[in-house]
Amino acid sequence: MSDWSKALSSFEGAAENMPTMTGNLGLQLEEPLIFEQGEDGRTGVDLPDVPKVESKLGGLARKGAIGLPGLSEPQVVRHYTRLSQKNYAIDAGLYPLGSCTMKHNPRLNEKMARLPGFSDVHPLQPVSTVQGALELIDTLAHWLKTLTGMPAVAMSPAAGAHGELCGMMAIRAAIEAKGERRTRVLVPESAHGTNPATAAACGYTVDPIPANERGRVDIEAFKAKLGPDVAAVMITNPNTCGLFESEIIEIAELIHSVGGYFYCDGANFNAIVGRVRPGDLGVDAMHINLHKTFSTPHGGGGPGAGPVVLSEALAKFVPVPYVVHGKGGYSVVESEGAAEDGFGRLKAFHGQMGMFVRALTYMMSHGADGLRQVANDAVLNANYILACLKDEMSPAFDGPCMHEALFDDTFLKGTGVTTLDFAKAMIDEGYHPMTMYFPLVVHGALLIEPTETESKEAIDQFIAVLAGLAKKAKQGDQAEWFKAAPRFTPRRRLDETAAARKPVLRWKPEEQSKDAAD
Ligand SMILES: *Cc1c(COP(=O)(O)O)cnc(C)c1O
Repeated sequence: MSDWSKALSSFEGAAENMPTMTGNLGLQLEEPLIFEQGEDGRTGVDLPDVPKVESKLGGLARKGAIGLPGLSEPQVVRHYTRLSQKNYAIDAGLYPLGSCTMKHNPRLNEKMARLPGFSDVHPLQPVSTVQGALELIDTLAHWLKTLTGMPAVAMSPAAGAHGELCGMMAIRAAIEAKGERRTRVLVPESAHGTNPATAAACGYTVDPIPANERGRVDIEAFKAKLGPDVAAVMITNPNTCGLFESEIIEIAELIHSVGGYFYCDGANFNAIVGRVRPGDLGVDAMHINLHKTFSTPHGGGGPGAGPVVLSEALAKFVPVPYVVHGKGGYSVVESEGAAEDGFGRLKAFHGQMGMFVRALTYMMSHGADGLRQVANDAVLNANYILACLKDEMSPAFDGPCMHEALFDDTFLKGTGVTTLDFAKAMIDEGYHPMTMYFPLVVHGALLIEPTETESKEAIDQFIAVLAGLAKKAKQGDQAEWFKAAPRFTPRRRLDETAAARKPVLRWKPEEQSKDAAD
C-alpha cells in the first residue's frame, strides 16, 4: 500500500460505516488518537543533545522507547483544536438538560475572574496580602445567607455533591454532639442519585419515600416512616419533577418534631431565587450549586462550587477553614481546634476562588430585583414550553411547572419510538437532548430546563423541532428518523451500556484498532 492510501485507511472504523471515504463529514473532521498519529523522532521543538551521563538506575532503567507520539507543532495544534470542536457547549446552542441549569455564562464574570488580584493569588499567601480576596469571599457568603435566609454558610465544598456531603456531615456531627444514635435518612424516590449516595457515604440507611400522584412527597407515607432513629430527610425543592413541594413547611415541622434535620437539595434554587428564602421553610442545610443558579461554568475540567448554608442548629458544626472579620481585617480560621464542634476539614483550602468571583459578579450585576427576575423568567420559559407542547407530547403531571417541563413517554406509545430514539433524533436536528429517564418515578422521562437566558426565538425553534419529531413518531416514520438516529454525528448509536460497564480507558498499541472501533 502506498503511503497515501495507508493514510486514508488509518481512519478505519470510521470509514467502514461512514458515507465518505475519509470519515470526515463536511468540515467536521475525523480525529485519530494522538498516539495513532505522528512519527518517531518528529518534534515541534529542537532540544540540545543530552550529554552522556552514567545512569544510576541500574536494572530500573527504561529499555524500550518512551512511546510518546512525535508530532510537529501544527499537528498538535490541529489535534487539540479538532477535539475541542467535538464538544457541545452552552456557547454553541441551547442546552436543555433538566436539573443542570445550563444557563449562559456572562462574559463579565470571566473578565472579573481574570483580574490579576483574584486570578494570581495563592492560598498560602500571607493573609495580609489577600484582604481583598477574603473580603470577596465574605461578601459572597453574605449574599448567599441573605438570599436563603440562613445564618451560616460553609464556602469550601467544590460541587453540589460535595456540599451534600458537607451538610450531612454537619448533621451527623450535631447528632453525635447530642449523644444520640440515629440510623435512617429519608429520601424521596424522585431524588437525584447523589442524595442517597451521600446518606449512605455518611453511614446511614437510605429509606425511600414514594411520590404521590401529584409528583410530590407522599406526606402520609412520610409520616409513617418518622421515628426517633431518623437522622434527616433530604428533599429537593422545587423537586426533580420540576414541581414545588407545597407541603414543605409541614414536612420541616414533622422532621423537627422527631429530632431529625431537614437537608434541602438546592440544585433547583434557580426557580425560586429572590422569591423564596429556604430558611423560612425550616431548612437546616442546603447546598447551592454556583455553576447552576449563579452562572459559573460547568465541567469542562473546570471546578464547580457548592457552598452550603446552615441553620442556627448546625452553624457551629461548619468545617474549617472559614473567613472571619475582626478588628485587624479579614482572617482565615484554619485550625481544627478553633472550631471545636466542626467536623474538621473537607478540602485543602477555602474553596474555588475563580468561581466565587464569577458568582458574586453575577449577583451584583443583577441586583436583588434582577435575581428575582431570573427566577420569574426561568419559570415562565419552562411553562411556555410545557404549554406549547402539551398536545404533541405528554406532560407527566397536570398543572403548571416551576423551571423545568417534565414529559413522560405516553405520547410515544404504540409508535415503536423510545425516549432514547427521540433524544437521538434531536441530535440530528442540532439539539443536545434534554435529561432522559430521570427522575425515575416518571416512565421514559424527558426533563427540559430552558433557563432564563434563551431568547423567545430560540425557544420557539426548539419547540417546533420537538413538535415536529413528535408528529413524525406518530406518523410511523420510525425507521429513518428515529431508529437510525443520530445519522449526522461522527459516531452513530453506541453501545452505551458496554461503554459504561466496560470502558476502554487505556490505549495499547497492539489492541488499538479492535477495541477502539468496538
Ligand atoms: C446537579 C444536581 C446535584 C449535584 O450537583 P453537582 O454540582 O453536579 O455535584 C444534586 N442534586 C440535584 C437535584 C442536581 O440537579
